[in-house]
Amino acid sequence: MILGLDISTSITGITILDNNGSIIYCDHVDMRKEKNFFKKATMIEEKLGLIYHNFEISKVYIEQSLQSFRSGFSSAQTLSLLSKINGIVSWQCYKIFGKEPQYLAAISARKLVGIKVPKGQKAKKVVMKFVVDNLEDFEVEYTRHGNPRPGYEDRADSYVIAKAGYINERQKLKILANVLGAPYRSNSEYLFSCPYCEHHKRKFSVNLEKGYYKCWVCDTRGKNIYRVIRRFGTSHDKSQWREITGTVNYDKLEDLFAEQIEEKQILEMPEGFISLANKDIPTTGFAARNYLRKRGVTKQDIVWWKMGYCSKGDYEGRIIIPSFDDEGDLNYFVSRSYDRKAYPKYKNPPASKNIIFNDLFVDWSSDIILVEGVFDAVVAGRNTVPLLGSTLKQHSGLLQKIVKEDAGVYIALDPDAKKKELEIIKTLLDFDIEVWKVDIGDNEDVGSMSKQNFQKCLNNATLITTDNYLMLTLSMSV
Ligand SMILES: [Zn+2]
Repeated sequence: MILGLDISTSITGITILDNNGSIIYCDHVDMRKEKNFFKKATMIEEKLGLIYHNFEISKVYIEQSLQSFRSGFSSAQTLSLLSKINGIVSWQCYKIFGKEPQYLAAISARKLVGIKVPKGQKAKKVVMKFVVDNLEDFEVEYTRHGNPRPGYEDRADSYVIAKAGYINERQKLKILANVLGAPYRSNSEYLFSCPYCEHHKRKFSVNLEKGYYKCWVCDTRGKNIYRVIRRFGTSHDKSQWREITGTVNYDKLEDLFAEQIEEKQILEMPEGFISLANKDIPTTGFAARNYLRKRGVTKQDIVWWKMGYCSKGDYEGRIIIPSFDDEGDLNYFVSRSYDRKAYPKYKNPPASKNIIFNDLFVDWSSDIILVEGVFDAVVAGRNTVPLLGSTLKQHSGLLQKIVKEDAGVYIALDPDAKKKELEIIKTLLDFDIEVWKVDIGDNEDVGSMSKQNFQKCLNNATLITTDNYLMLTLSMSV
């Protein structure tokens, strides 16, 4: 049975659906007369206790109270009060039913159930009408003016949440079956054929509720089943999955690709460029090579990043790290002085930074790592893209590429760029990109770490979801 909750500090709506998606219980808790916040919470707890004794709840869905964070904090106070009661009831559900509640945004829940709110009309009223028109067993009491009595709109809202949860799971299962073949059910898990090892028995276990998956034969595992769909599903499977999980902002997506793609930028290597990747380096290159050695840059790094230096010209006395676009043309280069007296340390070519640094060498079918500068990238490893700064602009080619390729992103900016890092995370979440935050601890920047040390931090990266993103922003603002 599915429990759906529409929680607020005044009236909380409650609906229970059976395994066919029909209503078996619908009620509300009216807390308007109670002024004490904790007593309000206790009223809900008592109700949940009663439900526990009378129904076997297998899933809990709660209307997400955190929608406003997408468009910036409209009112921190409302938000915090709502998330407070939401958090308390979530905890109560976990304690009482032993289930982690899942959160659904009101907008996507209505969409799943098939409710369209015409412009200029109140969502509450439209939902109410839909429920009354479509459900025989939904009872409403009216005031003498013909309006539903308080509580009935909240009941209707909780029905929509429960029903959306029901449909959501059905649809997810259908998409998974499209991609992996028909499953069989074993307790809370579904067992599919494994797309990785293709073992003849169905040994690929998926926990739909949590999104975890694991193959009992080849031990492939992960915490986000969407990755499997991303890899083995058709574009239709992928877009459907994203639509029902309700995290993609389609208007933004259109906007992202509507922007005219900038003309291809081709540069020439700076005057006096000499490669350091060759076996024999002229004597003028010794200082450059020593500088790199001191920074911990290895011979392999030099070869991989095609590093060189300039012996004359505007970039004399500088290490040059070139960037090649996906067609192999030079589209940018970074120059760093190895002479301590030289100023500025970094000298940019007169060209746009809106490029994907070394797009040519990025394996877009794997996860990528985003860092600030090229020397950070050298430490972070080969599938790293330096942002050449600490921002990921809304219409940048890099963002377009990440979204198009649907790459998983590990983000490792310097600790002093926390705020900008959050902005990037938010942008990526808006496009439903899988984001991992790499905490580099007390290190000044990635470039000053050893490769081993960075790998350790990478392995401990945290998956950021819309839920814990909010926690992240809150902890930042304290
Ligand atoms: Zn397997």
